[in-house]
Amino acid sequence: MNTLEPILKVDNINKYYKNVQAVREVSFTLNRGDIFAFLGPNGAGKTTTLRILLDIIKADSGEIEWNISDKKGKYPNVNDIGYLPEERGLYIDVPVIKSLVYLASIRGANPKDAKKSAYEWLEKLDLLDRAKEKLQVLSKGNQQKIQFIASILHKPKFAILDEPFSGMDPINQEKFIDYIKEINNTGTTILLSSHQMQLVEKIANKVFLINDGKELYNGKLADIYHQYQSQLSLELKFVENYNEEDLLKTPDLLFIDKLNSQSCRLLFSETAQLTQVLQHLSKFSNITSINSYSMNLHDIFVKLIKEKK
Ligand code: ATP
Repeated sequence: MNTLEPILKVDNINKYYKNVQAVREVSFTLNRGDIFAFLGPNGAGKTTTLRILLDIIKADSGEIEWNISDKKGKYPNVNDIGYLPEERGLYIDVPVIKSLVYLASIRGANPKDAKKSAYEWLEKLDLLDRAKEKLQVLSKGNQQKIQFIASILHKPKFAILDEPFSGMDPINQEKFIDYIKEINNTGTTILLSSHQMQLVEKIANKVFLINDGKELYNGKLADIYHQYQSQLSLELKFVENYNEEDLLKTPDLLFIDKLNSQSCRLLFSETAQLTQVLQHLSKFSNITSINSYSMNLHDIFVKLIKEKK
């Protein structure tokens, strides 16, 4: 195995469900050590793509090449993979610790080590006192935590996490960011899907923005910021409600992101000239402040959708 070769290559996959094309010509590559985030709204094609990678469903066309351990192939070795599915897949009427240890051992872990590690994770996730309870009595967020532990307890080389933050409160979401970083630091390559861009931009080094089954952007997070954050974007505040129709006449305006009735953000196309924009805005007597701001990943995503329309 050449460790410099990609750990996963996906080439031009397509998937139809009857007449719905869920995935369209999707290609991407992961290198060892990446945290690669698949980002897009509901129904964008994220889960379908992840299921294709794991051979849970078949693509209609396209190629996949895994290169995790000793031999390349279309399918990974199950022991090398950790999978956090979107729908919960654990035994609900078995004590938590029992199902965690069982699942890790059928994926190649030593049961004794798995038990020790399971207790460590349960403690970290504030669930130590629930170890002997059945999964079904736990809250949705706590079930998601258990599902996460189940997906990584056997120390997989590659983890696929489908919506890992689902059902979590904001504090736990932040903690999960750290746990994902932690397993990545111990050598697990991560492929995750989410629609929560503000969380993902804290950990991913590469992103694939997907909408309607199609790629909007595929590349390094640092590059997408570099490309888009230099473009003009302004935040405006008004004394009272602003007139959107007049604002829409601002030269090279791409779209208005309404923050509330008295403030909004304006995103411009690449050709926008600050002087021309300010000249137009100077006609609004009710503006109290104009500030430039750096687009976050969500803004960039919306901008890409508008640009491609
Ligand atoms: P979410 O964030 O809501 O989970 P997603 O990005 O994971 O969305 P998918 O679940 O992959 O999106 O769905 C992509 C498209 O394929 C959607 O239009 C969805 O309705 C459709 N789809 C998914 N699974 C099936 C199925 N089993 N049969 C028919 N259509 C399906």
